[in-house]
Amino acid sequence: MQTITYIVYLIASILFIFGIKRLSSPKTARQGNMLSSLGMLLAVVVTLFDQRVLTFEYIIIGLIIGAAIGALMAVKVPMTGMPQMVGLLNGFGGGASMLVAFAEYYHILNTTGPVIQAATSVTIVLSVLIGAVTFTGSLIAFGKLQGLVTGKVVKYPGQHPLNALLLVAVLVAGVMVILDPSKTDMLIGIGIVSLILGVLLVLPIGGADMPVAISLLNSYSGLAASMTGFVLQNNMLIIAGALVGASGIILTIIMCKGMNRSLMNVVLGGWETAGAGGAAAAGGADAHKGDVKSVDAEEAAMIFDAAQSVIIVPGYGMAVAQAQHAVRDLMNVLESKGINVRFAIHPVAGRMPGHMNVLLAEAQVPYDKLYAMEDINDDFPNTDVVFVVGANDVVNPAARNDPSSPIYGMPILNVDYAKTVIVNKRSLNVGYAGISNELFYYPNTLMYFGDAKEAINKLVNELKEL
Ligand code: NDP
Repeated sequence: MQTITYIVYLIASILFIFGIKRLSSPKTARQGNMLSSLGMLLAVVVTLFDQRVLTFEYIIIGLIIGAAIGALMAVKVPMTGMPQMVGLLNGFGGGASMLVAFAEYYHILNTTGPVIQAATSVTIVLSVLIGAVTFTGSLIAFGKLQGLVTGKVVKYPGQHPLNALLLVAVLVAGVMVILDPSKTDMLIGIGIVSLILGVLLVLPIGGADMPVAISLLNSYSGLAASMTGFVLQNNMLIIAGALVGASGIILTIIMCKGMNRSLMNVVLGGWETAGAGGAAAAGGADAHKGDVKSVDAEEAAMIFDAAQSVIIVPGYGMAVAQAQHAVRDLMNVLESKGINVRFAIHPVAGRMPGHMNVLLAEAQVPYDKLYAMEDINDDFPNTDVVFVVGANDVVNPAARNDPSSPIYGMPILNVDYAKTVIVNKRSLNVGYAGISNELFYYPNTLMYFGDAKEAINKLVNELKEL
């Protein structure tokens, strides 16, 4: 049985690796998801045949409750709520690793007494530490994105020394538990302090930087699972956890580059201050003074009709309005007039990595029309019309021009270099980072106000009549 288990684990691991590889392109992503899910199913089924499973009652109860909650969340949570859901799921993963490590610790103590191999006690301590930090850190991240906890940067005197002190205390206690595994209270203490540390590390982070933090917590949850795999001596858990840990950290680095953040700042928590206003500030009026020029559907249609090249830049507003199908219709009508249409996708547009790609794929916009920022940024000066649909921060020239801006240094889509920019949003309100956007006041910018879905449908109708 043991050999069969190992062979199935090997097959599952290969499926995970190919699954992740396929996730890297939208064309193959669905297949990648299926492969990885199949791998997980095989791993779970073969693990249930493990001799050490004493009773199935609790497992079945857990499966039913977990599956019911998971299915409900998958159906109920809107696309715009996906980042917080991912955050919550990371937290559950971390919490589970912590609890399993505790359970195994007590199991060993009760069966063989307080003699635990050093390798096992090291991984127990790390499981508890990383799992607990991930659990509470993810809950805070969830609360921030859901608006239950302040989205602002939270700062207080002595913040970093306090975090460092707690970390050192946990590490010293960890060494003591490893040297003397009978120190049960010490391990409980590590768990409690790590839970506090998770809160303190994530609380300071401003709302706009939360996606990077969530991605990092995702990586932590993988590390915690991998450590638990060592505790339980389960190769599958070690491999699956390591894959989550590694892919999470790669995604974190990609997002850090996209937002011009340093990884060290994220790891330490509470860096200065992009998006100091954060989610909480979003919705406030644009503080920029000056005149904007606005157009209605008919005028906008005439400008599009005269163009030869159009780049559409989607942002969070497209997701809110669920305007991706209307955007697809716009693409079709423009192409039927012989106009070249492409899409420019900023890595952090929307509220989760790949948000825009997922929505546009759902609306059957061909993948080869979607261009990553670095592949299209040089083309804006040669473009007749750029149509910004519910994007704000990712096209804000302050990131290039204004050293005092909190988003200064973040790479943006250079839409303002195009001949004409038409921006569709409902008002001059700020985006997620809570800052005004000088683009709206540029001489080559025209505002087309309105809910994205409604406004684009009107625009498409006007274009059909021309
Ligand atoms: P922004 O949040 O900067 O701006 C979105 C704009 O959409 C708002 O200014 C709003 O203006 C407009 N809008 C809202 N509803 C509608 C609607 N129904 N119709 C039309 N427009 C609408 O979005 P971006 O995509 O430009 O930038 C993403 C931001 O989110 C960045 O700051 C990024 O750091 C952050 N972030 C990114 C994550 C990711 O992983 N992608 C995750 C979490 C945060 P108005 O109210 O006037 O309509």
